[in-house]
Amino acid sequence: MPKIPVEKMKTTYIMKKIWEMKSRQIRERDADERGYIKCFTCSAIKLISEMDAGHYIHGKHPGTWLLDRNLHSQCDICNRHHSGRREVYALELEARYGHGILQELAKAHTGRSTWRRTELYKVYKELKSNL
Ligand SMILES: [Zn+2]
Repeated sequence: MPKIPVEKMKTTYIMKKIWEMKSRQIRERDADERGYIKCFTCSAIKLISEMDAGHYIHGKHPGTWLLDRNLHSQCDICNRHHSGRREVYALELEARYGHGILQELAKAHTGRSTWRRTELYKVYKELKSNL
């Protein structure tokens, strides 16, 4: 496949590619040495390829879309069929990061309303260089 510079890509395509790389990065962060991950919000244990990177604050919100602390590996049942199981997710966030994490994420959520293309280029290149 010919290499297209990110500056020539459509914004929706850049965002799709960023998300693929970010999701992979999060799932690799959460995986054990054998490539297995325990779901953040239930007891399911599955291979890295079978898990999602699930948001606490929905992925449509620019401020928390790519935030590590807003992203944890989840099984598809929790992420897709139970809308992220947010009531459990909140408790797990506090257990892992301590009191204040929900406030921190809420603040990040309101801190950004959009991504400029130049910012997306930077994120894309950073994620790409860490592959
Ligand atoms: Zn689950």
